[in-house]
Amino acid sequence: MTSLATRLKSEIARDGPMAVDVFMARCLTDPQDGYYTRQTALGANGDFITAPEISQIFGELIGIWALATWQALGAPAHLRLVELGPGRGTLMQDVLRVFCGARARKTAPAKLEVVLVELDGAMRARQAATLRGTSGDASGDASDDAGVTLLWTDSLSKLRHDGTAVTIVLANEFFDALPVAQYVMSERQWCQRVVALGRDGELAFAIGQPVAAAMPGMAAASAAGVGDGQVFESRHSVIVATSGPVRAFADIASQCPAALLVIDYGDTCASGVRTGETLQAVAAHRFADVFEAPGMHDLSAHVDFSELTSALSDAGVATRPTLSQAEFLAALGLEARLATLIAGKDAATANALQVDASRLVAEPGMGDRFRVLCACSQGIAVPYPFA
Ligand code: SAH
Repeated sequence: MTSLATRLKSEIARDGPMAVDVFMARCLTDPQDGYYTRQTALGANGDFITAPEISQIFGELIGIWALATWQALGAPAHLRLVELGPGRGTLMQDVLRVFCGARARKTAPAKLEVVLVELDGAMRARQAATLRGTSGDASGDASDDAGVTLLWTDSLSKLRHDGTAVTIVLANEFFDALPVAQYVMSERQWCQRVVALGRDGELAFAIGQPVAAAMPGMAAASAAGVGDGQVFESRHSVIVATSGPVRAFADIASQCPAALLVIDYGDTCASGVRTGETLQAVAAHRFADVFEAPGMHDLSAHVDFSELTSALSDAGVATRPTLSQAEFLAALGLEARLATLIAGKDAATANALQVDASRLVAEPGMGDRFRVLCACSQGIAVPYPFA
């Protein structure tokens, strides 16, 4: 049993059942024993592998997207480039390689402020170590000769407003790690789903209080005749909270030209009716029981892109239909970049590069399980390749 499990059990015994989103937040970000707090094993040897860790092409194409978006916004001298949940810093490293190349050709912003939104101290240190080489910045908060500044903050809502900067926000596999609330249909009412103690004293799901106010999407699900025991998941409260990422981005987008790129696994839901449980634990590239080892396993849940899009548009931000990861990467020139990387390489290296790049766009696989959402300030040109 983990020490977090012991603490959670005694808290539940003392205070009563805990909402699923609170449980998830504790498992991931508990200051002592949270998964992200104590582990640094993302990547091939870790519990799960993300697109930037698979192939450098992923981050490079996002770099090209950011550069093209900055140019479409009038190429101002100062760009603020933000990443939510940067993990090991690999994506930003690849993005910055593209910006450095463009700078040599004088087609990049003279002043580039890179803001990494990260809760955890150990993760920040890891990101600094990865990015130091790229920016030449040892302290992590000073400007270097190349005009690149690295800054860290724990929340997008804490970004100070800077009237002149164009802001581009990137988020790869960030929203799936945000706490998800669950509701369960019980006797024709939506009730909160909670974590309680089972008869054996172990953590177990239970049905909590009926919900007072319906979450967006719940009414449609009820109308569709949802049966007892069905689960409805929502991040609505978390993302639209005052300090949540949707509200924070909407604030930024109303003050300066801004674009947001969200890449994550999940789906859009055409009918607006979504039920089904997607909360999952992953350890060493395998699925595990959510309650098996709190704080030791990664927890995540599908991103409901319909919910995210509605929340952004309700907050006054312009949104476009999502693209699949395969569509997005193909439009940005995956094949051409791969051909350049392969040129002159020996057969084994070329083959490995090809295999990794294919994995990003595989269908079925990352190419269709991951979707890409773009949102931006009202009145600015919609960034390519979103229509
Ligand atoms: N984007 C990275 C890794 C994603 S893992 C990649 O593509 O490889 C999720 C990241 O988000 C981790 O760095 C984690 O520490 C951070 N994180 C999780 N919840 C967070 C929160 N609420 N606020 C800020 N960062 C968070």
